[in-house]
Amino acid sequence: MKKILLIGTGGTIASDVTEDGLAPELTTEQLLSHLPAISGICDVDCVQLLNLDSTNMRPEHWLKMVRCIRENYGRYDGFVITHGTDTMAYTAAALSYLIQGSPKPVVLTGAQKPIGFDSTDSKINLTDAFRCAASDLPGVSIVFNSHVILGTRARKTRTKSFQAFSSINYPDLGVLRDGVLLRYIRQDCAAAPFFCDALDTKVALLKLTPGQDRSAADFLLERNDALIIESFGVGGLPEQGGFYDCLRDWMAQGKFIVLTTQVPSEGSDVGVYHVGHSLKANLRVLEAYDMTTEAVVAKLMWILGQTHDRAEAERLFYATDTGALDGVEAKGYDLYMVEANHTRADLEARMEAKRAAGEFSYE
Ligand code: ASP
Repeated sequence: MKKILLIGTGGTIASDVTEDGLAPELTTEQLLSHLPAISGICDVDCVQLLNLDSTNMRPEHWLKMVRCIRENYGRYDGFVITHGTDTMAYTAAALSYLIQGSPKPVVLTGAQKPIGFDSTDSKINLTDAFRCAASDLPGVSIVFNSHVILGTRARKTRTKSFQAFSSINYPDLGVLRDGVLLRYIRQDCAAAPFFCDALDTKVALLKLTPGQDRSAADFLLERNDALIIESFGVGGLPEQGGFYDCLRDWMAQGKFIVLTTQVPSEGSDVGVYHVGHSLKANLRVLEAYDMTTEAVVAKLMWILGQTHDRAEAERLFYATDTGALDGVEAKGYDLYMVEANHTRADLEARMEAKRAAGEFSYE
C-alpha cells in the first residue's frame, strides 16, 4: 500500500460556518475522518502546515510547503496538499518551479463547498487526489472535479460551480472516471527532485485599461524588480502615455518587464502589431506567449531568486517552454522538466551560494 502525506493548508474544503463567514477550522485528521474508505486506496499520515483562507497565502507559505515535502520526501510515495481554490493556481505554479522533476506526485486539491456540507465536492476531490498521489503521476498537478491539470497551466475560471479550474493553452494531463485515472499526457521527470528555496517576491502585475498612462507602471517599477503588464489582445502598449520611455528607462536600471495578455486563451504575440513591435524589437521586453499570468508571476519570482543577470534571466524565462519560443504550438512545461534537468548542477551550485550568503531566504 502506498504511503501518502496529507498536508493541510486550509481553504473552503476545511472550512466551517462562523459568525463572520466561512473560515478554515478543520484539521487534516478531521478532513480524513470524512473519507473512511481511504484506507482501501493508501496509507495516510497528516500534517497541519497552515490553516488559511488562500487569499492570505503568501510566497513564504509556498516555501514552507516545499520544506515540508523536502523533509518528508524519502518517507512517502506521494503528497496531497489541501488548499483554498482562490490562489491554488499560483501555489501550483510556484511549487512546479520550486520542486522540479519530482518522480513522486505532488497533488493539490480543494473544494468549492466545505467537506461538512450535505452538497459538497470535497469528498470526491480529496479521494481523487489520493488516487493520483498513489499513482505514478509525476510532478505537481491540481486534481479538481475529475480533471488533472499540470501545475503551471491551471487557472481558477469559475468562482462558484464545481468546475473551478481550467487548463490554459495545454490539455488536461488526464481525467478520473469512476475512480480510475486515465492519463492523456505523460510528464517527464528526473530520478530525484531538485528543490529550490529562494524567491524574489518583488514581482508586480499591472492590468492595463484604455487611456491609462505610465504613472501606475512607474509606481510599481520603483518598488519592484519586475513588472508583468497584462495588455490587450496579442499584446502591445498604448502609443500615448509615455509607456515606451517608461519601460526603456526602468530596464536600463535593471528592472524586468514581461508583457502578457488579458485574453484568457491562446497567449501573446507582441511583435505582430505596430503597438507592440518596437517594444519587442528595440527594447527586447519579455513576453509570456502561452504561459498563464499565474505561472509568469511564479516563474519570475523563481528566476530572480537566483539571478538578476539579464541574459541568464531571459534564458531561464524562455528556456523551458519551447511553445513560448515559437509562439505557435504550446508544447508546454513537460519540456520544462527536461530543460530543468540540463541546468540542474548549475542551479544547485547557485542555490548553494545564495543559501550560504543568506540571500532571498525566509528562514
Ligand atoms: N476563499 C477560499 C480559499 O481560497 C475559497 C476556496 O477555498 O474555494 O481559501
